[in-house]
Amino acid sequence: MAIGREMKQTIVTLDLEGVLVPEIWIAFAEKTGISELRLTTRDVPDYDVLMQGRLKLLDQHGLRLADIQEVIGTLAPLEGAKKFLDELRVRTQVIILSDTFEEFAQPLMKQLGWPAILCHRLEIAEDGRITGYRLRQSNQKQHAVAALKSLNYRVIAAGDSFNDTTMLSEADKGFFFHAPESIRAQFPQFTGFEKYDDLLKALTDALCERN
Ligand SMILES: [Mg+2]
Repeated sequence: MAIGREMKQTIVTLDLEGVLVPEIWIAFAEKTGISELRLTTRDVPDYDVLMQGRLKLLDQHGLRLADIQEVIGTLAPLEGAKKFLDELRVRTQVIILSDTFEEFAQPLMKQLGWPAILCHRLEIAEDGRITGYRLRQSNQKQHAVAALKSLNYRVIAAGDSFNDTTMLSEADKGFFFHAPESIRAQFPQFTGFEKYDDLLKALTDALCERN
């Protein structure tokens, strides 16, 4: 056996919203009845304009971080998500790459058993109001996959939407999960799945492949 010879290992990166948990803003809008919070990047393409609008609405409704976390805490991961993630984490290391914020993800991460997540962070005033947000890095999903590859990992990724496609392309293998047909049609190179059992099997098979 060669000593000191480097050998790749495989790691999985997963999107969060739409893959393991519901879309947080949409679910939050439904729980609170603030329908304007349902707007997404499909309605308001400029992310900063969208986020500023969301933060203004939260403020207008007097919602501080603690109130929002309480509502998010009543949301549940998608049915079967915890079992899927637990079974996947027995097989390999998993990192969740999400464009949400640490503070919003926290109540859902708790329910998922605190998996590793890389995302962004909110700016919170001393009185608990959300005053802004900070992207840690733009296009962070792709950067994270590239960084893992530089650590000699082979990366398998799964996501559901446009903001995952650079991650899926950068990865050695990428899958869609719960992706709308319109997005799947634009990226036919990524196989898509709808059921956790099918995704788990595809990931397990990909884990067993050698480079
Ligand atoms: Mg998503």
